[in-house]
Amino acid sequence: MFPPFELRDIIDLSGRSWGERAVRVLSAYLEDYSSQEITAAVQAAYSEERFDTAAVAPLRLFDRSTALLELYHGPTLAFKDIALQLLPHLITLAARKNGETREVSILTATSGDTGKAALEGFRDVAGTSVTVFYPRDGVSDVQKRQMTTTGGGNTHVIAVDGNFDDAQTGVKRLFGSERFAADMAAQGRVLSSANSINFGRLVPQIIYYFSAYADLLQQSRIAAGDAVNFVVPTGNFGDILAGYYARAMGLPIRRLICASNQNNVLTDFFRTGLYSTNRHFHRTISPSMDILVSSNLERLLYEAADRDGEQVKNWMEQLRESGSYSVGEQRRDWLSSVFYAGYADDAETMREIRDLYEQTGTLVDPHTAVGGCVLGEYRRNTGDNSLAVMLATASPYKFAADVLAALRGKEAAAGKDAFACAEELEQLTGVPMPPQIKALRDLPVRHTRQCGSDFESMRQAVLEELA
Ligand SMILES: *Cc1c(COP(=O)(O)O)cnc(C)c1O
Repeated sequence: MFPPFELRDIIDLSGRSWGERAVRVLSAYLEDYSSQEITAAVQAAYSEERFDTAAVAPLRLFDRSTALLELYHGPTLAFKDIALQLLPHLITLAARKNGETREVSILTATSGDTGKAALEGFRDVAGTSVTVFYPRDGVSDVQKRQMTTTGGGNTHVIAVDGNFDDAQTGVKRLFGSERFAADMAAQGRVLSSANSINFGRLVPQIIYYFSAYADLLQQSRIAAGDAVNFVVPTGNFGDILAGYYARAMGLPIRRLICASNQNNVLTDFFRTGLYSTNRHFHRTISPSMDILVSSNLERLLYEAADRDGEQVKNWMEQLRESGSYSVGEQRRDWLSSVFYAGYADDAETMREIRDLYEQTGTLVDPHTAVGGCVLGEYRRNTGDNSLAVMLATASPYKFAADVLAALRGKEAAAGKDAFACAEELEQLTGVPMPPQIKALRDLPVRHTRQCGSDFESMRQAVLEELA
């Protein structure tokens, strides 16, 4: 069921480049693609223009038993780039194989980060276009600027009058409409989505679990076969699910440590077996994890239920109807043998950012710091001090105001915009500011279209935008 990787296959990865590692892992899943095709896609996705280091996901040990896996070296400074830079190439290859000659038009709604990562991934990829709807008043100023300044001849950004749910519902209606499909066909286009439950987004994320292990082997930090822990800041459960797949393929992972912020639905779930969204929604300083329904968890439940699809469907119905479901003790026990779950609030997260910097010189963003807190708790509770890899999911400069406040106190960031905070952070720490942040301030706004959140307004807006 999961394509197996023998220990010797894993050892073999250690002497190889990111690109070669990627081709090996992807080939295990993409049976319909030749290795030349996969190699070409990997080269296009992870080129020097797109990632600022050839390692793509460099691993850095900052004490004897803890490493940071930096997943933020792509164009939007967050880990979603690793999947969304590759996905367009996989989609266009598949389209070509199926004899599809129409343009593949991606349509997606975003609450912030995914939209920009999708725009950068599809930007100027031949045979595609990408249209992102964002809620006009539901994204941060930096996120809005990131999207509306996007370059490229095939990128489209539309502000919807409404909140994220309105935008998301509107996009779902467009996907469900035969009339809209006909409109698109008349323009020589066919619709496709890029959301996080797309399998093409999951597979590329498996690569960096293998790559991290291969780096540890190469640096002689572990012996072949030693089990390590991975700490994953979690929202929609996509990133950590890829880690589960890596483990199921044979990568020696002891525990996958699932780190949440105060929206700790998953912590309770792994501890009790009860998933319940009947609770308060918190806005935190790790906004990409402010989620109550983790859509990718369904895929893990499928494994927990021994691939009984009916059972999973039942749970999902209960979730829709009553906001909760329980998987029972036995399945909970199995889940907690593989996963450890914990959470941290904003104050603990801020303290972790400061402690990590003061004690090790490592600068992390709030999402990554949530992981650091939960790792500390895991080690205290279990006594398991074996090597742990912390996934660093975003550049600290993406959240410069909060990181600066963590290091210097709230007053240090008060009244300053994101750019001023980033500059101060650079002066203070000497950690170089990524050029994407500087560029953002000076780039011209290219996308200004707005529309209502009803079906007809959104339909018109896309058709005019693409025409
Ligand atoms: C999306 C995101 C996460 C959460 O990842 P999931 O796959 O949704 O669990 C964590 N950190 C950052 C910075 C993100 O952008």
